Amino acid sequence: MTLLQSWVTSANHPDCPFPLNNLPYGVFSIADDEPRCGVAIGDMILDLRACERAGLLDLGGAALFDQPHWNKLMAEGYRVWNDLRGRLLKLLDALSTAQGELERLMVAHSSATLHLPFEVAEYTDFYAGRHHATNVGTMFRGAENALPPNWLHMPIGYNGRASSVVLSGTDIRRPWGQLKGPNDSKPRFAPSARFDFELELGAIVGVDSDVPVGVDRADQMIFGYVLLNDWSARDIQAWEYQPLGPFQAKATATSVSPWIVTKAALEPFRCATPAREFPLLAHLRDTTPMLYDIDLTVQLAPEDRSATTIARTNYREMYYSSAQQLAHHSSSGCPMRTGDLLGSGTISGAEKNQRGALLELSWGGAEPIALDSGESRSFLEDGDSVVLTGAAHGDGYTIGFGDCTGSILAAVDHPYRA
Ligand code: MN
Repeated sequence: MTLLQSWVTSANHPDCPFPLNNLPYGVFSIADDEPRCGVAIGDMILDLRACERAGLLDLGGAALFDQPHWNKLMAEGYRVWNDLRGRLLKLLDALSTAQGELERLMVAHSSATLHLPFEVAEYTDFYAGRHHATNVGTMFRGAENALPPNWLHMPIGYNGRASSVVLSGTDIRRPWGQLKGPNDSKPRFAPSARFDFELELGAIVGVDSDVPVGVDRADQMIFGYVLLNDWSARDIQAWEYQPLGPFQAKATATSVSPWIVTKAALEPFRCATPAREFPLLAHLRDTTPMLYDIDLTVQLAPEDRSATTIARTNYREMYYSSAQQLAHHSSSGCPMRTGDLLGSGTISGAEKNQRGALLELSWGGAEPIALDSGESRSFLEDGDSVVLTGAAHGDGYTIGFGDCTGSILAAVDHPYRA
């Protein structure tokens, strides 16, 4: 696959995150008009509500894009997803005869306000990166108990809160919580002092299922992917997490990037999960490559200071794919819904500068990391901004995700402070 040429000339550049090859889906508004569905191409957004009203999309009649989210289109399933992409590829191709008509239905990214692109039905976060799980397990339980005994047999996760999912750019308020250090005789209630980010990819479930599904069917059910930051309060987590897993430590906020990158755009970048230490049980076995080669970075900028790239890694580091996670999630008969969001788990590589959370980068605070500004960090401070970026690099083109950002606000005074 090489760079596909569009009549939107800003899209025809090897470094452009939104070339014709990508066509990611978002929700936008202009001034005080209603939010509606759009597709990014170069530095423009094509208004799909306007296209639909002009009769340019021809997907069977029902109005799918006069919506403040993509859920209605998602629920239609992969044949309609493929029809839409095929139609958009034709309309936006350099040889399209519709250019004159479409130019009037475009808005500049710079003049649009972006919104959460899908209605989050439920949110589940997994723990499926082996380097991350080994590092965190070593810190929390010691090297001999790093990986729980179940870890190599299934993707373990916890049920998060859909209500806490926010769009990139939303400020994140430092949480209060119950804290108890290893040497404290009793817990206290205070703002988290070990607030952290987690670099993840979020998979968005497109269609419902009420029965257990295999990995191939699960892959077919996934509509697309976003970057995801699972903000985590490590001091709250350390005290609360046994035996039922994280609860308030992960409930403050989870940020997602504004553009849904489709499976079709990522198709050339598929790669296999790593060799298995134990053969997986049948419901988790994958027969085709289901990870993706996506370069990921984390930047941290103190307030009014320049950003430092503090981690570089790749989504292919995961041990379990999103399709395996979805198959496992459905295995008990758990119904899955249009708009379910599955966090991959923190994506860390083997090297120190490939770790996707400050907990690992600073080794629990024992080894603070140096920033270009001359400061150092063990955990996030008020005013810090975190920027996640993701890009798959093809032959002369880039599939970008759009940044996933968030800045830390100081904790508010709490009604139940001690
Ligand atoms: Mn997480």
